[in-house]
Amino acid sequence: MFFVRMRGLLALAALFVAALAKQTFVGEQVLRILPKDEAQLFLIKSLENMHEYQVDFWRDVTDVATPVDIRVPTHSLKSVKMYLEGHGILYTVMIEDLQVLLDEEQEAMEASARLAQPRTTNDFDYTNYHTIDEIYQFQDMLVAENPTLVSKMSIGKSYEGRDLAVLKFSTGTGRPAIWIDTGIHSREWVTQASGTWFAKKIVDDYARDPALKAILDKMDIFLEIMTNPDGFAYTQSTNRMWRKTRKPNPGSRCVGVDPNRNWLTGFGGPGASSYACSETYHGPSAHSESEVKSIVDFVQRHGNIKGFISIHSYSQMLLYPYGYTRIPCKDEIELYGLAKKAVAALSSLYGTSYRYGSIINVIYQASGGTIDWTYDQGIKYSYTFELRDTGRYGFALPANQIVPTAQETWLALMVLMTHTSQNS
Ligand SMILES: [Zn+2]
Repeated sequence: MFFVRMRGLLALAALFVAALAKQTFVGEQVLRILPKDEAQLFLIKSLENMHEYQVDFWRDVTDVATPVDIRVPTHSLKSVKMYLEGHGILYTVMIEDLQVLLDEEQEAMEASARLAQPRTTNDFDYTNYHTIDEIYQFQDMLVAENPTLVSKMSIGKSYEGRDLAVLKFSTGTGRPAIWIDTGIHSREWVTQASGTWFAKKIVDDYARDPALKAILDKMDIFLEIMTNPDGFAYTQSTNRMWRKTRKPNPGSRCVGVDPNRNWLTGFGGPGASSYACSETYHGPSAHSESEVKSIVDFVQRHGNIKGFISIHSYSQMLLYPYGYTRIPCKDEIELYGLAKKAVAALSSLYGTSYRYGSIINVIYQASGGTIDWTYDQGIKYSYTFELRDTGRYGFALPANQIVPTAQETWLALMVLMTHTSQNS
């Protein structure tokens, strides 16, 4: 009895400490706004500059056909709703109380962590989200189990000194390569979870899928699962909704740079913010973030990367360059056709519908993004995914969707990688 009570007290104390350290989202809502004309688009966009409301754009302003999703803190919920209603702008409440979803996510994660520690990658729980340390351990187990196929390399250190670890799948030397990264925006948890699943899938399928074997007989695959490890650690310790890097900005109370606006191509142009507190802050200079610079250096040092796939969530889209300019990229026709084929494969599994096209045409103008730079380095097959969902859960996608998301995305990846290996 005493021990039971003691354990109860300890659990309570642990909860209290966790509550102190972690930002809560109690009562915060995610609103889906349905703009009906250009004037309303402008008014919705203006919310970004009403800094006191601290509105977080989960899905940005695009066009009148596309809803906008915003997370609104409790303190400004009433004002923001009045603003929208006052201008006759329609909206619905997508998420009634964000903390309820995050509590469920946390409980599932803790329940999974209480299971016996995985001793092999076969025992790893792919159906749940994992801590940064669990994913580091997973990577080491995968390498130890498959030393002739997988190795782990470090391409640099994050701002806080974490290893920027990349898994290399290779069956020969001096080969061209395909790059895949997940989690450059840290709160997009389904991407790191999918990346973990892909790593296991590559190892398992090498022995049984002739199509993957054909790719690996010709090319290496590099996979960076935790591309923004500081941000990822911060989503778990402090603020689940953290997107940017964790480097302080001199002269500002706001921390971090958007690592998908920090690349040289189109740096500082429209669709990136020069305001340090913005979620799309481009940073003081191109490649200022070591998480970005490490990839830049790796790509240039390697010199023979043929495909580059950067994975985000959410919105269900497959995109190719450009984001910073309306001028179509010179491989537009081929990249469009390949995207169409990849999306058809993805949809064949569970019927998940995807949109596809160039970034600027399908979403919006965004400057300084990853794949505009990789494309201009001569990596023709440069793509970005936005995984599930379309906003019902957004960044708080329930863990039971991890494996289905990874499975369907894998089919699209196979189409992209096969085409890349056959045309490089
Ligand atoms: Zn993203």
